[in-house]
Amino acid sequence: MKTIRLYALLAAAFSSQAFAQAPARNIIFFLGDGMGPTTITAARIYKYKEEGLLNFERLDRTARIKTYSANAMVTDSAPSMGAYMTGVKINNDVISLKDAKPQSPGKDANGNPTVDRCGEGEKKSDGMAPMTMLELAKAAGRSVGAVTSTELTHATPASTFAHICNRNTVYTIAQQIVPGGAGYNERLKDGVDVLMGGGRPFFTPFDAKANPKGRADGRDLLAEFKARGYFVAATRADMMSALPNRKFVGIYADSHLDYATVRKPTQPTLAEMAVKSIELLSKNPKGFFLMVEGGKIDHALHDSNAKNALEEVVDFDNAIQATVDRMRQIDPGLEHTLIVVTADHDHTMVMNGYPKRGNPILGIVRDIATGQPARDADGKTYTTLVYGGGPNRLDARADVDDARAQALDYHQETGVRLSGEGHGGGDVKLYAVGAGSAPFKGTIENTRVFELMKAAGGL
Ligand SMILES: [Zn+2]
Repeated sequence: MKTIRLYALLAAAFSSQAFAQAPARNIIFFLGDGMGPTTITAARIYKYKEEGLLNFERLDRTARIKTYSANAMVTDSAPSMGAYMTGVKINNDVISLKDAKPQSPGKDANGNPTVDRCGEGEKKSDGMAPMTMLELAKAAGRSVGAVTSTELTHATPASTFAHICNRNTVYTIAQQIVPGGAGYNERLKDGVDVLMGGGRPFFTPFDAKANPKGRADGRDLLAEFKARGYFVAATRADMMSALPNRKFVGIYADSHLDYATVRKPTQPTLAEMAVKSIELLSKNPKGFFLMVEGGKIDHALHDSNAKNALEEVVDFDNAIQATVDRMRQIDPGLEHTLIVVTADHDHTMVMNGYPKRGNPILGIVRDIATGQPARDADGKTYTTLVYGGGPNRLDARADVDDARAQALDYHQETGVRLSGEGHGGGDVKLYAVGAGSAPFKGTIENTRVFELMKAAGGL
């Protein structure tokens, strides 16, 4: 009898030791799309002055991340998120498929990119589909969620739950998350437990007038979700009324969600979406995996519109703080929860020298000693923030009006004339706190982030 008790004690000790080695049953992965180091610095100054810090900058651990993809020095959001989610370097434009050549999607009769051409290229291969963090968590019996301020089918969320050789094949990506239907990703088992974002047309039937970007196959994926027991939300109010005993899908916009600066009251904030997701997912005693994307940072940067980009970083930061606060109520020491915050790639926004300390980050550069506007070699004033590439390159520079430069709709000047501002190839930053966060340090590959999360979660 005593021997048996001793054995039971030893077994318990061993299993708790194993548990201690892989303690993060909850993993929350925040991705600020395009949130490069300079964007973080600028947002910090914008909100908290030079001497302040954003909330997520106060997390315990930091690392620098190399973001190049399998075939490109400068990545797009698909392979960089794929690297975080699968541990594999992937080609640009490809969603969580190893060695797949990107194939641009075919257009349907309505002109929408619905035809999946995976496997048609010269390699006749649609690659291998490595398991994603979300799929691994689901396989371990945990609850899983993907939340974004972009369309739900966009590259970042798609790389958590879909596998396809072009990120623009949004109609096919949508059907990969609808349990029981044609094209479903069976690795998601009974379904992703929480899904939130925009992109309603990709989930609803085509109608020439009412829904011209709708599905050519006529499927109503939201009705299919409902038939599978999902609570389907279209507004913030719907979302707030959802109870934590059903799976949840919230599609809050036809396209991406609004910028935080002009957000309609029908749309939830990113913080509200994140906290609601935790309410829904944390009921599972085995834990959960949640991905939250601040996807509009990237949109504003592409638009060379720094003010909205900085506002979006602040909004993203608020969502992270709300999440940390909520998780500390559930798991006070974060002993079972790992929270990671990073970006998928940089942009080409830079800070020019040498504005006076305390000068508005969005303003024109002012001399340190005199406070008078600084001048370029042609005698013109210029803003602190400019972009390496983008549409706003003047043939001959003129003075920049300081008040205009700080307006919400101002587009900063650019060096190379491009139709839109592009991504940067510089390293990005990573912040982590909680269980298993200690190994996040140094300068590491984006694929290594997957390995560290997987180990922390015992997945
Ligand atoms: Zn982008």
